[in-house]
Amino acid sequence: RLVQEAIGEKRPARRSKAQAVWPAERPRCYDCLVVGAGFAGAVMAERLAAGSGKKVLLIDRRPHIGGNAHDRFDEAGILIHHYGPHIFHTNSAEIVDYLSRFTRWRPYEHRVIASVEGKLVPMPINRTTLNAIYDLSLSSDEEAEAFFAARAETLPAIRSAADAVISRVGRDLYAKFFRGYTRKQWGMDPSELDKSVTCRVPVRTNMDDRYFTDRFQAMPAEGFTRMFERMLDHPNIDLLLGVEYRDARAAYPHAELVFTGPVDEYFDYCFGKLPYRSLEFRHRTLDQQWFQKAGVVNYPSETVPYTRITEYKHITGQIAPKTSITYEYPRAEGDPFYPIPCEENQKLFKRYEALTLALANVIFVGRLATYRYYNMDQVIGQALATYRRLRSAASGRVQA
Ligand code: FAD
Ligand code: UDP
Repeated sequence: RLVQEAIGEKRPARRSKAQAVWPAERPRCYDCLVVGAGFAGAVMAERLAAGSGKKVLLIDRRPHIGGNAHDRFDEAGILIHHYGPHIFHTNSAEIVDYLSRFTRWRPYEHRVIASVEGKLVPMPINRTTLNAIYDLSLSSDEEAEAFFAARAETLPAIRSAADAVISRVGRDLYAKFFRGYTRKQWGMDPSELDKSVTCRVPVRTNMDDRYFTDRFQAMPAEGFTRMFERMLDHPNIDLLLGVEYRDARAAYPHAELVFTGPVDEYFDYCFGKLPYRSLEFRHRTLDQQWFQKAGVVNYPSETVPYTRITEYKHITGQIAPKTSITYEYPRAEGDPFYPIPCEENQKLFKRYEALTLALANVIFVGRLATYRYYNMDQVIGQALATYRRLRSAASGRVQA
């Protein structure tokens, strides 16, 4: 039972309007309260309700479902991603099969262009990038590999986000493509961040200009929000939006809790705040058909205050006379979008994790609750695995 319709995103040119409706006829005690209607919470709610027949109350403090993957039609009728570009890609057939119950797909292979010293070149760095930046005519993988090898630095250990790039392509490409972008994005020097951050972006010797190489790359045909609506449209699920966990906790008795918000918030920051990086999104609609040549253009230079510009029509395939774009400005304060991967933060997280493990009937799932820089498919995989674990523990209890 979808107590509250997920606002007016289905139709173009309708404004989002939050209307928190408290369930009129609610069970005396829910089997499970799920906090957060992003991927982690929605998958858990759907599985517990449809897979195990549990009565679930799903809440979110935001006025919409979908978490950071939420998309909506703007005033010009263009489907935009409210929290920046979300591109679905995975190598897991299980995750594709699961989501395909709730959506059709539009094939889409994401391409990113970097604006470097006045040139627009493919990112990740590939052979085309090298030829354009250095005015070369490298014509084979071997030639490109030799170019990288001649510049790569041998380091005693590869620990940081800077080490990972410098040891692969050398300092000049690092400075042109990674140093400024990373300093802006994270408010830290790449030498202070874990190598996993820049290892997300490969370096190529061929001319493949796709951002991802996963076997499955596609966008939900009617958008993420429509897919979430279908996932949550189940008689065992009640949904409340614009509601804080601290307000719902006592008002809605529940036997179990799934928490997908920030883990440090759950424990009232008892060990201090876990650092998160935030972003400000500036959405614009332009009275022209196209703005740029790809879905995303990155601006690594520190003289430009934003990191990237997204133009949604490339990603969604929508045809419209106008176009909508989003500028991303990294911020220290605001919504917690990115856990910051470095040793010190991981140590602090481990202290919170020890508290989570000591709790009975409370499960922590998702990017914020497990403090992991996860993509959507990884969060879905984590939630499906968590559900399987819960179900087999419950069937073990029944048999015993
Ligand atoms: P969230 O989506 O953050 O959901 C958590 C929800 O919990 C939120 O809606 C929040 O309001 C709610 N909540 C928290 N605390 C409380 C509380 N106390 N009470 C009530 N509600 C609460 N992944 C990809 O695979 N591809 C991409 O291209 C991609 N691009 C991204 C771009 C950006 C700018 C960002 C920030 C992330 C991107 N991601 C991408 C990652 C993706 O957004 C996440 O992996 C995924 O959305 C995380 O889902 P989640 O449910 O764990 O968290
Ligand atoms: N990065 C960079 N330059 C780029 C793209 C990425 O330096 O043009 C670095 C940066 O530190 C970024 C990280 O690589 O945070 C991961 O990039 P990704 O595109 O995966 O970031 P996300 O989409 O998760 O924000």
